[in-house]
Amino acid sequence: MSLEDVENIKKHIEHFKKTLMELTETQSPKESVEHKIREMSAEVVDSNPYSRLMALQRMGIVKNYEDIRKFTVVIVGVGGVGSVTAEMLTRCGIGKLILFDYDKVELANMNRLFYQPAQAGLSKVTAASMTLTRINPDVKIETYNTNITLTTQFEEFLRVLQTGGISGNRVDLVLSCVDNYEARMTINTACNELALEWFESGVSENAVCGHIQYIVPGESACFACAPPLVVASEIDEKTLKKDGVCAASLPTTMGVVAGLLVQNTLKKLLHFGTISWYLGYNALADFFPSMMIKPNPNCTDSFCLKRQEEFKNRVIEEPVCKNEELPEDKVIHKDNEWGISLADDSIVVNQSIVTDKSTVADNSTAVLLDNSSELNNTIELVSTSITKNVSKNTSIKNEEEYLSLNDGLEFAYSSADKTATNEETLVKDTDLTVDDLRAQMALL
Ligand SMILES: [Zn+2]
Repeated sequence: MSLEDVENIKKHIEHFKKTLMELTETQSPKESVEHKIREMSAEVVDSNPYSRLMALQRMGIVKNYEDIRKFTVVIVGVGGVGSVTAEMLTRCGIGKLILFDYDKVELANMNRLFYQPAQAGLSKVTAASMTLTRINPDVKIETYNTNITLTTQFEEFLRVLQTGGISGNRVDLVLSCVDNYEARMTINTACNELALEWFESGVSENAVCGHIQYIVPGESACFACAPPLVVASEIDEKTLKKDGVCAASLPTTMGVVAGLLVQNTLKKLLHFGTISWYLGYNALADFFPSMMIKPNPNCTDSFCLKRQEEFKNRVIEEPVCKNEELPEDKVIHKDNEWGISLADDSIVVNQSIVTDKSTVADNSTAVLLDNSSELNNTIELVSTSITKNVSKNTSIKNEEEYLSLNDGLEFAYSSADKTATNEETLVKDTDLTVDDLRAQMALL
């Protein structure tokens, strides 16, 4: 037998292994039907997978935890952040998860969480579905091994968002865990068109920064309202990638971003706490900037403008009361022999949430105290429109004082003094030609 024959046999064995795994995956839901749990029980026994989640009710955090089974969440991109996000929601007992990805699992992904070396070569959605179904057979998993940025796939993506819910209704939330701007813009377009809320997430190429952003069409800035420079300049991002150079990634940063994403998803779905509009994470300084970005009235997305109009009319009709807190229930411990009670944790941390919608400081530029690429994206977002919670009637001496930036933020440039009449700064007419001016410049 030649060396070539041996290689061929190896390839065939590898192919059979993958086929076997795929078949196992398609059969596993049927096998696990009998293990499905009809009702989430709060009974404190070792065999109850939901006892610790249902305890959130007893602790007064969530009103009805079992509501989580009604919700359908779409995750676009099941890579470093998306796969961990999917696992967390599965363990939390979400009703239905719909996964979109067109990539395959590679050994180069093993520095991250979730996937295993034996799954290399499988499509990410197939490998994820196999693992998730085994973790919690109560969660309905639907997968699409497609690229939503292709025109032919976009219609299907829209259809799934409209009818993919548990009872054929529209889905409840979309989570973007993709690694490119084109896919983010596609999700943005779809969610603006359908007026569907979504969370955007990202991790920087140097692996030490990340962010999440909650986008409510019409109410907060969409991805096209304050696009990153690459998108605004209409540069093809594929041309920016250099051959042989790959982005860095850390399981830690991705785990933190996935944790923040799912935490805010749970808060949104189960109505507790305060949802962050934009929350950044700088691992080098353990710095978490948070802010609210208002929609851009000159957004390039026509559906965004339509949603902005609808939101304005809604606000006039009925004042918006976001992030409403549940009335404080007393913590219920049936056997509280030690008298344990919750400490007062009412210190407000999310200072940048806007409560006064009439105060907008346009075109101001704020810069975070870090020049890493992820935060540079933040700067681009902030530079279009930043909103601050300040009173309109405050006496304003200068723009910096007016904006009163959060801790950790500072201005990159001071605003031009509009009243300045310094003669030296004025441009004067001259008889010199362009060549004369160039010659003068060269001498400097
Ligand atoms: Zn917009």
